[in-house]
Amino acid sequence: MRILVTGSAGFVGSHLVERLLDEGHYVIGVDNYISGQRSNTELFLSHISFSFIEADVSQGIPYTGEPLDWVMHFASPASPPHYQEFPIETLMVGAQGTQNGLELALVHNASFFLASTSEVYGDPQMHPQPETYWGNVNPIGVRSCYDEAKRYAEAITMAYHRKRGVNTRIIRIFNTYGPRMRPDDGRVVTNFIHQALEGKSLTVYGDGSQTRSFQYVDDLIEGIVRLMKVNYHEPINLGNPNEFTVLEFAELVKNQINPELEIVFESITQDDPKRRKPDIGLAQRLLKWTPKTLAIYGIKNLYNNIKDI
Ligand code: NAD
Ligand code: UDP
Repeated sequence: MRILVTGSAGFVGSHLVERLLDEGHYVIGVDNYISGQRSNTELFLSHISFSFIEADVSQGIPYTGEPLDWVMHFASPASPPHYQEFPIETLMVGAQGTQNGLELALVHNASFFLASTSEVYGDPQMHPQPETYWGNVNPIGVRSCYDEAKRYAEAITMAYHRKRGVNTRIIRIFNTYGPRMRPDDGRVVTNFIHQALEGKSLTVYGDGSQTRSFQYVDDLIEGIVRLMKVNYHEPINLGNPNEFTVLEFAELVKNQINPELEIVFESITQDDPKRRKPDIGLAQRLLKWTPKTLAIYGIKNLYNNIKDI
């Protein structure tokens, strides 16, 4: 198939490109590097089945090649420090960027795949979060540029499916980590791993009682590839239900990497969700998928991978 991936130079996008190339597809990557890395494009430039367009997809997707089978929209800053630095660009890529992807899919009679997020649930009052939960989002808080952009992106994707007949997919990704995240990305896994590598204290925000459930990127990519083959149009959670408090997670990193590390407490940011854990019953039934990588192994893998670079 011929597949266009927006956000191809990002963390998740680059793993998706790699998998699609491995499966024998032709891939066109598109990225403007607002939060991605040129090194993630360079990985594939010599591949005969890869081409790259540097463009801001919120302004339009300048693809004029042969007919596409899929448009996969993964472009968006995703780390809280990144999207809070670029709130307008984040809103634009969730809104105009998504619509541009849907229009391109429509013109090519291609299918459209949206990378949405567990952030659509906001600071959830239901735990764990099933797809049927509508969420609890502060529409004007510092995280709203991301949360509301993704909620709009889901809404316009469903509208193009219902009104224009586009064959669509929507996934809600829960905290995912792995190689090729930017070292200065600011998310908890990258911060802890790089702090550990440099022998610095691990920074826990607040008292560390907030929870997250961490998924290794290979599990996510497997879920994505399975969903491409299943005709289901409503959102599906993809995450690892193994839940940790942030403090427990800091202890895990410390125990796995260097028991001498100290843990320090810093102030928490506005609207930081208190709990997050996916209900993955739907993905298990529909995709026969379940995440395989336990955090203790994933963290060790990631640490070794970065240490060896
Ligand atoms: P990332 O920041 O590493 O990658 C995003 C990529 O999109 C970057 O390369 C960036 O330069 C590109 N981009 C952003 N705006 C663009 C624009 N207007 N035009 C062209 N390119 C643009 O983030 P990630 O973790 O790889 O996230 C990828 C996708 O998955 C995002 O849509 C994100 O919302 C979603 N997601 C990720 C996670 C996670 O834990 N990693 C969780 C939930 C959702
Ligand atoms: N966090 C932390 N220390 C850090 C970075 C993040 O304690 O150095 C916390 C953050 O407050 C949040 C959780 O870790 O409660 C996950 O943060 P991340 O930015 O990775 O993603 P989020 O799930 O908030 O989008």
